[in-house]
Amino acid sequence: MLTLAEFLFWLVAGIYFYILPFVDRTIADADARDLEAQPEPPARRSAFVARRLTPTTFLIVEHDDIFDEHPFIYARIFAEAKKILLVDTGCGGRTRDRTIEITRLREFIETVCIPDNGGRPLNEGGRMEYAVVLTHCHYDHILGVEQFAVDSPIYQSGHSPSFISPDNLPKNSLCEHLSIRTPTFEPSLVPHRSRLIFFSPRATTNVVLLHTPGHTPDEVALWDEDEKMLYVGDTLYEYEPIIFPNEGNIVQWLWSVNMLIDLVWRTPLPESAMINCGHRTAMRPALDVLRTTKAFMLDVLAGKEKIHRRETRRGIEYVEYVQPGQRYRLICPERLILEAREQLEI
Ligand SMILES: [Zn+2]
Repeated sequence: MLTLAEFLFWLVAGIYFYILPFVDRTIADADARDLEAQPEPPARRSAFVARRLTPTTFLIVEHDDIFDEHPFIYARIFAEAKKILLVDTGCGGRTRDRTIEITRLREFIETVCIPDNGGRPLNEGGRMEYAVVLTHCHYDHILGVEQFAVDSPIYQSGHSPSFISPDNLPKNSLCEHLSIRTPTFEPSLVPHRSRLIFFSPRATTNVVLLHTPGHTPDEVALWDEDEKMLYVGDTLYEYEPIIFPNEGNIVQWLWSVNMLIDLVWRTPLPESAMINCGHRTAMRPALDVLRTTKAFMLDVLAGKEKIHRRETRRGIEYVEYVQPGQRYRLICPERLILEAREQLEI
């Protein structure tokens, strides 16, 4: 028979050694289950998406901009030199979607995990330095440039400095027409056929900048010799209207396209070169796209393509041509067609 004291001793011991551990274990198990059931914090939505084109090059698309431009931006990574070359900067992240939190291109590049990049940001923590080439000065390619101009070189064409001067940029970028603030930055103007040298004369690249006036006087192309990739901005693309502003010039455009065809043709295995454009078209066979776009333009000039539509914009008569199958479309002031026919005696 236990005394009261013995009974109380064994009661406390039983609670301490058997019941408390059981309760602890049950609580721990429940906590673990709760943790497992906890949803991942939702990824922050971004105005941009990115996918890999080659081992060192990514395509970034501004997918929901208010201008419906959906510009293509390219990021070429030079891992050894810890540099990243950006081709254009997009529309500045302006979007109608209020759930989009990341609207700055630089934040996207430095913080958003990209599945095609092993789940890591393209330039995690901003470890690589930037250089930016603007293929031309239209607003849908320059509105993100200030994010990089604070600490990085910005390269533009040296072909027509007055076209992109601070006085003329608001008009020629179309920012003035759209009532949006024109970005301010100090570009380095690059001569024709310059090999891009980033940051120091020792950090040279096999990327060559070419003046390709036509769509605009300041249009440039980049030829990446290592990757056999040609970047042509808005000189041309497939399945989207090629649009010339009033400052365009079709004769110069033909000269530029002929130069690009010649450049690609002279490389070893020219058929393997790829073309990347400012909208819609990426990783397409360069030679074929260049030649077929040129053929379409010559058909337009020769009167073989009929005018599909006319429209007056800001007092200027625009015409549109649509190739059967719609691979190529052209919208431009009619004056440019008439001037080209006269100059080329077509
Ligand atoms: Zn554009």
